[in-house]
Amino acid sequence: ERFLEILKKIENGDELLREDIVYLLSTDKKREIDAIFSAADRIRKETVGDVVEIRGAIEFSNYCRKNCKYCGIRGQNSEIKRYRMTEEEIMEVVGYLHSLGLRTVILQSGEDPYWTMPKIINILRKVKETTGMRITLSIGERPYEEYAEFKKAGADNFLLKIETTNRELFKEIHPDDDFDTRLQCSKWLKELGYINGSGNIIGLPGQTVEDIASDIEFFRDMGINMIGIGPFIPAKGSPYEKLTPGDIAMTLRTVAVTRIVCKKVYIPSTTALATLSKDAQVWALNAGANTIMLINTPKKYRSSYNIYDNKNMVDLEAAVYAVRKAVNRKLPSYLKLPSYLENPDFDFAA
Ligand code: SAM
Ligand code: SF4
Repeated sequence: ERFLEILKKIENGDELLREDIVYLLSTDKKREIDAIFSAADRIRKETVGDVVEIRGAIEFSNYCRKNCKYCGIRGQNSEIKRYRMTEEEIMEVVGYLHSLGLRTVILQSGEDPYWTMPKIINILRKVKETTGMRITLSIGERPYEEYAEFKKAGADNFLLKIETTNRELFKEIHPDDDFDTRLQCSKWLKELGYINGSGNIIGLPGQTVEDIASDIEFFRDMGINMIGIGPFIPAKGSPYEKLTPGDIAMTLRTVAVTRIVCKKVYIPSTTALATLSKDAQVWALNAGANTIMLINTPKKYRSSYNIYDNKNMVDLEAAVYAVRKAVNRKLPSYLKLPSYLENPDFDFAA
């Protein structure tokens, strides 16, 4: 009864109330969950189509001045080897991504003071000049002026997740961050004309379904364009290393409800999901997600960018596998696949 009422609202495109969102996130009835996923899949198809956008990510430094309690590369973790890629190394990977036909590169790092504004600007200009690719930055909190200069130098998108909209929980997991500062940064990014990325972590200690519902309302009300939803995964050397990982089913429901509520947005099928199960990326694509991020950090550095344990390397093969296994989804026509992957019968398990 209650569910049918909500379903009707979804079909009519009416705005959902907090209690509707909580209901959708909480139901454990298989028939209802299937209906939620298929509504999300329909809305995904109507708003962003069947092509799964593929983006390449380069994790160019794992130095971080902060100590987010969930994160494996937090500054105080002395168990990991620190690295910074050189400009040449970064440009080499950018060249490879460009040769695959990819149109967007994501430059991600810890909050690393070495990478000053002029150094970042230099990289942005180089990427633009040599490839013309769209650039997503994911380098944390910076002053307004820096965000503005990055935009001028060619950054198109910025990914800065709110992680949780529960202020107390935000404070608990971020010893050196302030919720209002994070919010301010996100507003600046929007003001400056970035495609604005946010997102949350599912399964943080003490997080409730109401908290997740409030995150989804936040994405909607802030007009967020890209929403990264990943399960919490314990990271060695972090205060949360012994905690239980976030729930895959809850993460998928959050993806679906976010698609239903926010409609025309980019929702990645996240690397964190891929880490918990090989097929979880396929499930997310069937539940509202429409992009995949390839990890193209050079092999010698990959194991050091361990933001969480057993991080799954979503490479080109993994992305092609996920898109081929998902229902009625297409690889982008701009993608230049190596010939072995063009073979539709390529055995990914081998
Ligand atoms: N330092 C930048 C920042 O915090 O925005 C960018 C890099 S940070 C590693 C990128 C994202 O990784 C964060 O937004 C967070 O959601 C995610 N992350 C870090 N540790 C995680 C964990 N243990 N489980 C799930 N996601 C995690
Ligand atoms: Fe640093 Fe980002 Fe990890 Fe926080 S989440 S410790 S800011 S890399």
